[in-house]
Amino acid sequence: MLLDLICFDCLMEQVNKGEPNVFDGTSIPTPFEQVNNDGIYEVNCAKGHKSKTIIDNINFEILFEYGLNAIVDGYYREAVSSITSAMERYFEFFIKTILRNTTTDFDSISKVWKKVSSQSERQLGAYIMLYFQAFSKEPLLLNQNKEVPFRNSVIHKGYIPTKDEAVNYGNSVMNIIEQSLIDLKQKFPKETELTFEHYGYKKKAEEEFKKIEKDTGIEQNFACVNIMTTIDVKHGREINPKDGRKGMVEDRIVSILKRREPRRLTLLKDKPKEK
Ligand SMILES: [Zn+2]
Repeated sequence: MLLDLICFDCLMEQVNKGEPNVFDGTSIPTPFEQVNNDGIYEVNCAKGHKSKTIIDNINFEILFEYGLNAIVDGYYREAVSSITSAMERYFEFFIKTILRNTTTDFDSISKVWKKVSSQSERQLGAYIMLYFQAFSKEPLLLNQNKEVPFRNSVIHKGYIPTKDEAVNYGNSVMNIIEQSLIDLKQKFPKETELTFEHYGYKKKAEEEFKKIEKDTGIEQNFACVNIMTTIDVKHGREINPKDGRKGMVEDRIVSILKRREPRRLTLLKDKPKEK
């Protein structure tokens, strides 16, 4: 999976030229980079700049998108694994957001989370109870008779799922996360935002840059982009009825393939001489 990023130097060139803030996509080439854990991307853009870009997202948004890309690429085991991780990390986000409603201190929340951080069954238990407490109804979960054994056989027993199985599983998890996230945002908008800011990539990346500035005395310039993922805390696809990210996993696959097209064209540019 590659992320569409932006180059800080290209951005500054554009700003210094006094051109408008709306870019048509041709004046600034879009650099692509492989996904990583820290959210800091060293961008090598088509104009030869080397700059840094950070993403304003959170782990489960990226993990779910990673799973969708794995389906597109035909790696269905990897898709199920990433989609499962997205769900588990979403449960973590949900729990921390609900805790933020009664505890203002994220350090205490992180500390108490550590007690369950390596046991997903405990996390699931906490999620079910806190969800019930907050919304007086049971959360949507994986089906115990079908989806849970399926996931276990993929993750623990080496089962290789078909595309249909991976797509169906992706749809179930997407519903589980999205319905819960919409509930969460409606009832706890401020806590959701604060938890996102605290545990998202951006805060850690900015702290890292501040540390480098302190250690080296060199000012760190970087761009920041929000990757428009299917599961999206800040700019959810439920907000705008015309949002291009609508639909089930099948529709998202079509959309991901479409987004890959311009990159294919770019790569072909240097190739014709070989014929
Ligand atoms: Zn550039």
